[in-house]
Amino acid sequence: MTTPSLNELISNPSCMEDYDPNAMSVTQAKSYIQQYLQVVSDKELLPIHHSLGRVLADNVISPCNVPNHHNSAMDGFAYQHADGIQQLQIIGTAFAGKPFQGSIAPGKCVRIMTGGVIPVGADTVVMQERTTVNGELLTITDIPKMGANVRLAGEDLALGQTVLSAGHLVQPADLGLLASLGITNVRVYRRLKVAFFSTGDELIGVGNPLAEGQIYDSNRYTLYGMLVRLGAEISDLGAIPDNPVLLEKTLLSAAASHDVIITSGGVSVGEADYMKALLAKHGEVLFWKMNMKPGRPLAYGIVHTEGHSAHYFGLPGNPVATMVTFYQFVRDALLRMMGATPKPFPTFQVICTQAIKKAQGRTEFQRGLLYQADGRWKVKPLPNQSSGVLSSMSLANCFIVLGEEVGNLEADTLVDVQLFEGII
Ligand code: AMP
Ligand code: MG
Repeated sequence: MTTPSLNELISNPSCMEDYDPNAMSVTQAKSYIQQYLQVVSDKELLPIHHSLGRVLADNVISPCNVPNHHNSAMDGFAYQHADGIQQLQIIGTAFAGKPFQGSIAPGKCVRIMTGGVIPVGADTVVMQERTTVNGELLTITDIPKMGANVRLAGEDLALGQTVLSAGHLVQPADLGLLASLGITNVRVYRRLKVAFFSTGDELIGVGNPLAEGQIYDSNRYTLYGMLVRLGAEISDLGAIPDNPVLLEKTLLSAAASHDVIITSGGVSVGEADYMKALLAKHGEVLFWKMNMKPGRPLAYGIVHTEGHSAHYFGLPGNPVATMVTFYQFVRDALLRMMGATPKPFPTFQVICTQAIKKAQGRTEFQRGLLYQADGRWKVKPLPNQSSGVLSSMSLANCFIVLGEEVGNLEADTLVDVQLFEGII
């Protein structure tokens, strides 16, 4: 089945059988968004330190064997294994970084330290603890198997092997891995340029006193945190009042020089807001009512300005809804545009110790607290699950994910949880 264009979906929603903008499931929305994304094309060569959190643009091929020589996994004695041999003459020492010069004949051995090169002629290391030493004479008290305690050249990484593939998000272990190969620079995709702004007449920036009816703009701070963690190059365009001229100006300036624009607020269906009209004028944007809680309204599309286009995500204004929709839709999309292949969040089943009220037919992302009791991990939902209560996100350490088919749950039922740590 070919993917309809954004315009086709906007003007004729029934062109796709499973497409209903007023009842979008989380999975459907994700798969629609995915079809319109492209990976940034620019790449840059970076010293490995600076590649942390970036996405590799090329495969990394091992230029050598790691380790590059057979070496000892233990402190002990290296010798040529032979049946029945238990007494050997010690003829020298091999330290890590200081190999024994010479070869080992049958009946001879060399004291060897962990990491020391296995001398020519030796094939086995007997642990120090399994021997007794008397002057130059070594007696093996417990004969090892042939080849024991020897780390083979190339056993970690072999010359010519693909060590990391393009699309891999560089983690701390990868930095060490690259260093172990003697690699100094890697090619990565450039950072994604993301602009974001809040919308709403009631919003005021921190540092100013609150007048009646005003609230501090918190969404820009959570968005800042989430985007920085994803490694985006961000532009914070502020809190923009519900004023069509200012909103249009901000939207177009964001579209001119960014890959992605994220807004919060003003996309509720039926709301007398200006964003919808502006997005129709300058782009192709879909407005969805999601079958999820929190995060019912969601807008996705493309905004055009002279010679440039940017992907657009319109997130609901309620602070928890902003975060949940970011994690469920925006995060994956940004990772794809960064050149990475997003993996599903690891999801575990644990016992929920409290009853949960839940309507069937929508996916809920309740804020939960995983805790240890009687030596086991259990979860309970935080008491206030309102989508405006941001403290629930701060106090929680996981989402309790309740699928569309799930209804009310009694206490002590298994539920799916997704840990915040690692995904945030
Ligand atoms: P909206 O999506 O614009 O209808 O906003 C829904 C709710 O979220 C309203 O109570 C807004 O005041 C609140 N809200 C919208 N934007 C923000 C923001 N940036 N920071 C905190 N609350 C917000
Ligand atoms: Mg609003």
